[in-house]
Amino acid sequence: MTKAAVFTANDQPLELMDLNLMDPQAGEVRIALGASGVCHSDISVINGTLPIAPPAVLGHEGAGTIVAVGDGVTNVKVGDHVVISWVPQCGTCYTCARGQGELCETGANASMFGSMLDFTTRFSMADGTAVAQMSAAGTFSEETVVPAISCVKIPDDIPFQVAALIGCGVLTGFGAAYNTANIREGDNVVVIGAGGVGLNTIQGAKHAGAGKIIAIDMMAGKLENAKGVGATDVIDASQTDAGAAVLELTGGRGADVAFEVIGLPATIRQAFDMTRKGGEAVIVGVPRLDQTMEFNPGMDFVIMEKTLKGCWYGGANVHQDVPMLVDLYKSGGLKLDELVSNTVSLDEVNDAMDAMGQGNIARSVIVY
Ligand SMILES: [Zn+2]
Ligand SMILES: [Zn+2]
Repeated sequence: MTKAAVFTANDQPLELMDLNLMDPQAGEVRIALGASGVCHSDISVINGTLPIAPPAVLGHEGAGTIVAVGDGVTNVKVGDHVVISWVPQCGTCYTCARGQGELCETGANASMFGSMLDFTTRFSMADGTAVAQMSAAGTFSEETVVPAISCVKIPDDIPFQVAALIGCGVLTGFGAAYNTANIREGDNVVVIGAGGVGLNTIQGAKHAGAGKIIAIDMMAGKLENAKGVGATDVIDASQTDAGAAVLELTGGRGADVAFEVIGLPATIRQAFDMTRKGGEAVIVGVPRLDQTMEFNPGMDFVIMEKTLKGCWYGGANVHQDVPMLVDLYKSGGLKLDELVSNTVSLDEVNDAMDAMGQGNIARSVIVY
């Protein structure tokens, strides 16, 4: 048995309940969670933006200790501390071999459906009802079972609450700048949305050598956070015409690279329009799947030679990028402790979700 926070219906609080948890099958591991971040994508499941059928254990940004391994597991062993990737990445399929582990052909489908790789689940209710697990993870639970290929071993001295963030918010944000965008030394970079992911995009842009890093948000507290992790300029879009302000800060040219880290067509358009001729806009936020946009291909893409890119999971190869980020954190080049706004218990998960939904908080982390 394990205590878990279960999504039972759209727009309802998660229900805390004791669930049965099966032993790990071949290629799987059982993990005692040390910490789980509360991420916007968890809210997106509850409000229907990301379609996962209830009942499901949410939570996909976790770190913990391996307590059991199934047959054939070689990459981790009992006692290892690991970060859980919310896309199981095999490292050997067509896309993994081409450096696009975030699109792993083995793992991506299962994680979309909230199941393990064989499309079944390891959680069930007392009456036997199967309970899905978000992203083949399900980290809003004292213990979970995940594919071994979802696990990346980390040093024992990395705090779990920090390690958990690496599993989603950090990889997604940092990776958008480090892996997906083509940031050159001295580039002017715009980041629209300075929440938990946006703060990591700012850190990734700094690491990639950006000159000006202009953070845009409508909340003063978030803009202060942005300055704390490397934004050189901030624009409060509730007070200022952000497009005009970006032009002024970039010599009238526009940004070399702009990131949209909210997931709304209106701000995606703004990010695109804020880029210079030949510039690049990267969509990091996930819009509702029924949203569409219009472009003028001749002007926007051919004559202006702009690029619009999507970015899934920071374009991350977790088996390389997690160790890289851990090293960067240990050497002081990546601020993670500062990103944890508050720690809560599993019982307080709904309060943490509400706080995140209201917006003025970088990250609540459940500590087990
Ligand atoms: Zn997430
Ligand atoms: Zn793969």
